[in-house]
Amino acid sequence: MRMDTSSSHSAAERLDAVFAATRSRFDLPEGVIYLDGNSLGPLTHDARMRVADELDNQWGARLIKGWNESGWIDLPHIVGNRIAALVGAAPGSVVACDSTSVNLFKVLSAALQMRPERRVVLSDRGNFPSDLYVAQGLLGGVERGHELKVVEPEEVAEALDENVAVLMLTQVDYRTGRLHDMADLTRRARAVGAATVWDLAHSAGALPVHLEEAEADFAVGCSYKYLNGGPGAPAFVYVRPEHAEHAHPFLAGWMGHETPFAFDPGYRAAPGVGRMLVGTPPVLAMTALDAALEVWEGLDLADVRARSIELSETFVAEVEARCPELVLASPRDPLARGSQVSFRFEHGYAAMQALIERGVIGDFRTPDLMRFGFAPLYLSLDDVLRAAEELETVLRDRLWDDPRFAARLKVT
Ligand SMILES: *Cc1c(COP(=O)(O)O)cnc(C)c1O
Repeated sequence: MRMDTSSSHSAAERLDAVFAATRSRFDLPEGVIYLDGNSLGPLTHDARMRVADELDNQWGARLIKGWNESGWIDLPHIVGNRIAALVGAAPGSVVACDSTSVNLFKVLSAALQMRPERRVVLSDRGNFPSDLYVAQGLLGGVERGHELKVVEPEEVAEALDENVAVLMLTQVDYRTGRLHDMADLTRRARAVGAATVWDLAHSAGALPVHLEEAEADFAVGCSYKYLNGGPGAPAFVYVRPEHAEHAHPFLAGWMGHETPFAFDPGYRAAPGVGRMLVGTPPVLAMTALDAALEVWEGLDLADVRARSIELSETFVAEVEARCPELVLASPRDPLARGSQVSFRFEHGYAAMQALIERGVIGDFRTPDLMRFGFAPLYLSLDDVLRAAEELETVLRDRLWDDPRFAARLKVT
């Protein structure tokens, strides 16, 4: 087969143009190469302007009238629908609220009730500790002999049996970026009658996700990572539409009531996914997130994925050529990982601090992982090449070997 170089050339040019346009919408500090958007996405101009407007013209000028006049009360659904479009969910099946951890508690409790005769929640060792803590806390409180079974990521499929009430997994491993096959594992879970709960913290905005198509039952996710919603931005929660009318989370509140302003002492769940809401939405944070999501309008996640793979593959090749001390901790196959790459290095914490001082920001995960996230919306191939060069300098000149970089800060 002959390669059509003119069309592949124009395809690359098209992607360059798409991502030059998205990059111009971010307000990144001069001289910084930001490889930590998997932990906290950067500020957009849209978010800055919307929050300023919210302060001056909505809260400041309208006071409590803002709940109606500025549409504050609808933000959890409006933002939820924007996110639904990014995770392959139908409109009306996602709301934005609370934190990922709290949302996980809600959906896990709802999922357990769908399988009252079963006692096992199955998860894996690659899951985020908070997810496991939420499950431990919930199962401890239920006191009906439930067990949290945690296996190696490769053993999940074989551990699925008819005792499993809920399969609770994070699709992309926060340390290594290892990617679970959501469609396959969800199918296997359904085959043994287990409900599924997916955490999309490192998936949403990083790669195409197909919740509806995969027939996932519940999902939660984070919006301050690849969705750039701002520090502590509200998380999201998905309920498969066919379950929404009989899902009953253990956490209920007035915002999830059928008629909150009837002030009825008895709880009646709101229709659909709205019942996952609990308390008053944090309007300023919700506004920042809503505005940040505008950058995704018209973007194709297949393009984002293609560029992300190009960036991470370039980085891995450059780092392996330049930094023999570092050992790749992520799957080598880009299709088997999310949008991040980690390398092991004994002095990883200090090396990351030295790198950050040189304007290349990644992060560190214990015990020895240097972690780098690739967000095509604001990162170019040139950035990635420069980051690899700086990393080479840090290692070659042992810049990490400085007492300033030895003490660990509270947040790593
Ligand atoms: C980032 C992350 C969270 C964060 O939870 P919060 O409740 O927002 O602190 C949860 N789960 C996973 C898998 C994450 O990566």
